[in-house]
Amino acid sequence: MVKASSSGWSSDLSGGADTIVARATAPGPAALAVVRLSGPGVRRIAGEISPAVDFGEPWRARLVAVDGVGGQAVAIAYAAPRSYTGEDLLELTVHGSAFVVSSLIERCVAAGARPASPGEFTRRAVANGKLDLVQAEAVRDLVGAETAWQARNAREQLDGMLSQRLASLRGELLELLARLEASLDFVDHGVEPNRDDLASRLARCREKLASLLATSAAGERIRDGVRVVIVGPPNSGKSTLFNTLLGTERAIVAPHPGTTRDVLEAELEISGLRVTLVDTAGLREAADPVEEEGVRRARAAVASATVVLELAPADGGSSVAGAPEETTTLRVLSKADLPHTAAADRLPVSCTTGEGVDRLRAVLAETVAGGVPDLGGEVAISRRHRRGLERAAAELGSCDLDHPELGAESVRWAARELAELVGEAVTEDLLDEVFASFCIGK
Ligand code: GDP
Repeated sequence: MVKASSSGWSSDLSGGADTIVARATAPGPAALAVVRLSGPGVRRIAGEISPAVDFGEPWRARLVAVDGVGGQAVAIAYAAPRSYTGEDLLELTVHGSAFVVSSLIERCVAAGARPASPGEFTRRAVANGKLDLVQAEAVRDLVGAETAWQARNAREQLDGMLSQRLASLRGELLELLARLEASLDFVDHGVEPNRDDLASRLARCREKLASLLATSAAGERIRDGVRVVIVGPPNSGKSTLFNTLLGTERAIVAPHPGTTRDVLEAELEISGLRVTLVDTAGLREAADPVEEEGVRRARAAVASATVVLELAPADGGSSVAGAPEETTTLRVLSKADLPHTAAADRLPVSCTTGEGVDRLRAVLAETVAGGVPDLGGEVAISRRHRRGLERAAAELGSCDLDHPELGAESVRWAARELAELVGEAVTEDLLDEVFASFCIGK
């Protein structure tokens, strides 16, 4: 996990010399809380605060008395290297009052532990080869998962699916590099290198990179969710539909045109994805400056939409969403319980009778999930992964086999980008950036 310091890489993934402590469960009063300790001093600290903790019989839950915090804990001792961090690790499950937890942590600090920084336990797991950096990010994503897709993608990444693909691609790059370097030697000796072999290997690496990069759009949809924006003329039933889809009474429903002057947002889950549903002001000529601002915001919301629900009410009035071409627009005939002439290109929906609401939900679910094609055993990559893979792709893109020396340099850099992705050649800044987004105690 070390690279020459002359090139700016450093070996800062070394394990912890000190012992860290943190609450591993969410802050605030809870039935139970878990306090975690990891590092070389854990056995000594445990001996001081809770002598009954037994590292001679690890991986078993044991009810122990804890000195100084007026209570008991269920202790699980994990002996190195068979622990999350790869170090000696102790988990104490205690009654979840703020007093019990903070006094236990203070007691551990008094005995020589140091409060852990965000993600420090996982950082040590990476340092000790328990996880690579891509898997560490999956731990963070799994902790933060709010939808079924987010959890599934994080789980698969944690299982090493993405790591394996990166490792196999890197293996192929190193093989190509070895052959390129060998061909340089051949040239020196007047032997013609096998150009076809080199070219087909380079092409395969480029293809594999491209297919990994192609998962980034799905990755963004899974991680960031999608925006579904409801637009239509004033009084077309936008707020009512917003509330119906949410199943709550969040937006103000009023019989006068122009009520929703701002943009209202709410989160819901559709097809396992996080959806931000947006209700906008009616799109029409504004009567006053406040409404004008509402219309401006509505247009901005449309511009940022993944899907636009464009309402035209049965009792008259129509709207043009003006959505960008790549945005999917679902055309809805709202208030379909009122007399109307059939509109073949619109889905009739009445929030009053419920007609068409389930159908709309189904079409919406299909449309939203349509952006997450079956990944076919792949894991959708994140922004950090995309940036690294794009740099690698740029290197390979400029790799010219007619100039094997320069070509080898491009391949070497591409392979290094992949090494950085999994955390094998990393700078401290990068590690700080990745782990800053973790919670304390993880
Ligand atoms: P917005 O201005 O587009 O947000 O429209 P609202 O949701 O505030 O609705 C305007 C009026 O239409 C209100 O009086 C609603 O009760 C009524 N409305 C909404 N949906 C329906 C519907 O499906 N059928 C009928 N008949 N009236 C509706």
